[in-house]
Amino acid sequence: MTGIHGNRKLGTLEPGAVIGIIGGGQLGRMTAIAANHLGFKTAVLSERPEDPATHVANHHIPSTFDDPAGLTKLAELADVVTYELEQLPITALQFLAPIVPIVPGIQALQVAQDRINEKTFLAVNNIPTAPWHAVRGRNELLSVLEIIGYPAILKVAYGGYDGKGQAIIDGNENDYEILSAWDDLSKGVSMTGVLERRLSFDSELSVIIARDSDGNTATYDPTHNIHKNHVLDTSTVPAPISAETSKGARSICFKLAKTLDLVGLLCTELFLMPTGELFVNEIAPRPHNSGHWTLDASHTSQFEQLVRAITGLKLGDPSRFTSAHMKNLIGADIHKIEQYEGVADVKVHLYGKTDPRPGRKMGHVTFLNKTSLTE
Ligand code: ADP
Ligand code: MG
Repeated sequence: MTGIHGNRKLGTLEPGAVIGIIGGGQLGRMTAIAANHLGFKTAVLSERPEDPATHVANHHIPSTFDDPAGLTKLAELADVVTYELEQLPITALQFLAPIVPIVPGIQALQVAQDRINEKTFLAVNNIPTAPWHAVRGRNELLSVLEIIGYPAILKVAYGGYDGKGQAIIDGNENDYEILSAWDDLSKGVSMTGVLERRLSFDSELSVIIARDSDGNTATYDPTHNIHKNHVLDTSTVPAPISAETSKGARSICFKLAKTLDLVGLLCTELFLMPTGELFVNEIAPRPHNSGHWTLDASHTSQFEQLVRAITGLKLGDPSRFTSAHMKNLIGADIHKIEQYEGVADVKVHLYGKTDPRPGRKMGHVTFLNKTSLTE
């Protein structure tokens, strides 16, 4: 099939083709908007009609991720399917795979959605991480703690996000308190986890790479991320790091995307240690909160890049034309937006959520030509 655009490759989807998105959150919303910009339509599968991505999608399929009827409808509507979150059953993708292309593929999700798989994958590929150990049940926790030492972080293997599903164990707890931390996370249901050494890093970085089906890549500048209570607060580019660190971070992300043979986006979260070493924290085969600055400060946003990669369009230019400082609007922060109205170089993004519950990502603000709010 020859496309209508000169830069299209064989198999490229035509305008009007439908991109299926599993998940109705803000990442799906921004992907759908980017898809519309490029002339595509979207079908979002998510449970609730009020989910942010449904407001901008051409089709909404109200369905759980494991309902065959909903998945069948998605496959009927969509020419290609992607996902905007990791917390979905692999069986859903296995159900869809024979009917419709899924990008990124099942393997990327399998690796990224389970911290034991993820850290095993990193170890096999000689990528440094914090010392860690699998905890395959409550009865293993105390003996694994002896191996990892203090301070440590216990994380649920599956289903954690925005710092949820984590407990810090700093060494002052007794055995009863430590096991209670497990019980709080597992809520009495059988669970696997990982125990990690809690690192004293200098800073946190992330790198996002886009990769197409021919293996062409476009890598964004490393971003400097600050978390509050384990939730992303700000992301800043350029990151205050050396050229060597930047190169190292990019090459780790490139290697991971290549090894996974990933088509789409891969975000790699890293810890920069005082020694200059880079340890990978986790990876995500989807758009990432730390890349929201690309909407306003890069020639091609991460969302457009995802759409390009999965529809067979040529990847866009990822380079940045200004510095940027992105701040998440979490919960009641949403009420601060009035102060940004009419201010030059301040870009406000809201996700269409009406209930500003504590900890809920309601939107974000990107300050252009700035690397902090105080300069
Ligand atoms: P999530 O899936 O919630 O993003 P992460 O593993 O990325 O889970 O943890 C969230 C944040 O918690 C990290 O960005 C970092 O700030 C902190 N954190 C996680 N693991 C460690 C660790 N081993 N040492 C120190 N801080 C950590
Ligand atoms: Mg993280």
